[in-house]
Amino acid sequence: MVGSRTIGIYGSLQRAYSRGLRVSEYYARPDMSIAKRVSEEGIKYVPVVWVPEAQNLSQGVVNVFGERRLFAFSNSGCISNLGIRDKLLSTIEDVATKLEVDSVILDAIRFPSPHDGLTLFSCFCNYCQKVMKDLGIDPEKLKLGLRKLIRSLHRYPYVELNSLESLYTWIRVRQHIVRELLKLIREKSNNYGLKLWAAIFPPSLAWLVGQNYTFMKDLLDEVHVMLYHRCGGAACLNHEVYSLAKLISRDLRDPNTLRVLRMLTGLDIEDLEHLEYEGLGSEVLVREFINAKNILGGKAVPVFQLSKEGLEMTRKLRALVKVAYLT
Ligand SMILES: [Zn+2]
Repeated sequence: MVGSRTIGIYGSLQRAYSRGLRVSEYYARPDMSIAKRVSEEGIKYVPVVWVPEAQNLSQGVVNVFGERRLFAFSNSGCISNLGIRDKLLSTIEDVATKLEVDSVILDAIRFPSPHDGLTLFSCFCNYCQKVMKDLGIDPEKLKLGLRKLIRSLHRYPYVELNSLESLYTWIRVRQHIVRELLKLIREKSNNYGLKLWAAIFPPSLAWLVGQNYTFMKDLLDEVHVMLYHRCGGAACLNHEVYSLAKLISRDLRDPNTLRVLRMLTGLDIEDLEHLEYEGLGSEVLVREFINAKNILGGKAVPVFQLSKEGLEMTRKLRALVKVAYLT
């Protein structure tokens, strides 16, 4: 099958070569010299644009307690912020006009994740509050309900009905904002004949950060599902799940914490305490990818960490589908 052995790399090409991989695509920040070097090696270059890139704290997200923060790698602000959107759209324009590429990858088209602690419960910046009001949602009522939910999350779904409603309303707003922004970017990329890809969270957590697979499928040409089994930063699944568990309850050994986690993510994790350092088993990642592929079909591309386990995990897959690695 044509293209069935396509391997893409995020990060260091040298590390991929040292593992004996035959790389066919390379994903990195938009840069003329990278484009030149990679094309000389006969590799397809796809620029990666960090969507929520913030200039300063004033572009940060605002959580349910009114605290303004940058998230992810302390470099990200609210995707509703007009300054962030203007910068993003002009970067897409630069990619389309200055680099000779046919596709672009959106990274972090989302709101904060469990990695960001209580900043997860955002965003209540003025831009997002305006969206809420346009949707007929009262931001103050939503804040109250969410604050109550945070205190009673360990009992979910046995929490007051209005807090439960707040949870879904909050998720609805996030997904609405991501979808509308994605439509805007799609319009822009269509104008330039640029294909639109994105690196997104695995299905278990994506819905919480605003990434709903059902609309992502329609608005993207290729979807990279990040399946990082053992690392400690934003988007690392083991770390994100561990962080979510800590937001649910301080007692990670409480069986109810596992139950709530299962209800929020669909994941069946047995040992939370060691998750942060020992990581997730391959069966969890495979299931995540199958869930993603069930919705995204042929647009789904799994992205693994380039490690011994990552390579073992994908040996069979590589013959069947396009695979990407984070080095
Ligand atoms: Zn906001």
